[in-house]
Amino acid sequence: MKIVLATSNRGKIGEIQKFLSEYKITPFSDLIEPFEIVENGKSFKENAIIKAKTIYEKLKDKNIVVMSDDSGISIEALNYEPNIFSARYAGVKANEKDNLNKVIVELNKRGVNESKAFYTASIAIATKYGIFTTHGWMHGKVINEPKGENGFGYDPIFIPNKFDKTLGELSEEVKVKISHRSQAIENINFILKSLN
Ligand code: IMP
Repeated sequence: MKIVLATSNRGKIGEIQKFLSEYKITPFSDLIEPFEIVENGKSFKENAIIKAKTIYEKLKDKNIVVMSDDSGISIEALNYEPNIFSARYAGVKANEKDNLNKVIVELNKRGVNESKAFYTASIAIATKYGIFTTHGWMHGKVINEPKGENGFGYDPIFIPNKFDKTLGELSEEVKVKISHRSQAIENINFILKSLN
């Protein structure tokens, strides 16, 4: 089964490939010129569907499976923001560092050193049988000081429950065992197996 990933986020591609090592996974940008997909859904699930469907229709090959991931972080002290706006928290042109710094600024404005937080991932697959979606979550807390270089996005400020280090400090092997993305992919794997 050929799986095409509807993302060009290197961090996501690496984690998804690691988890689904039995499949050959190709980022869509290896097949067609990358283009912007307007993510105007109201939930992670809606945005994941928009991405998978757009690439599936563009590739015009009914037999492929297009997989997308829409994910983000929700922080209690920030009224559960940035949520679905995690990739553009500091503005539409913001990069991952800008977004992480904005969280720290917002925590500091409120005089908060740490806050409960959780990551959500929704995975969608577009197939000849239709569209399927799953979710996964990882709970923990964010702190107002980045630590470590591993992972991507908000990982240097996120400490998962039962750990005392950030995902920036923990190894990729640890993250793959406990992450929101891994849980969502594990569930999508059941669906992939039933399509064979
Ligand atoms: P998306 O590409 O629109 O789904 O945006 C996801 C954004 O959420 C990323 O740009 C990251 O900022 C953040 N994010 C999602 N998953 C993770 C993760 O596993 N670690 C760190 N940041 C994440």
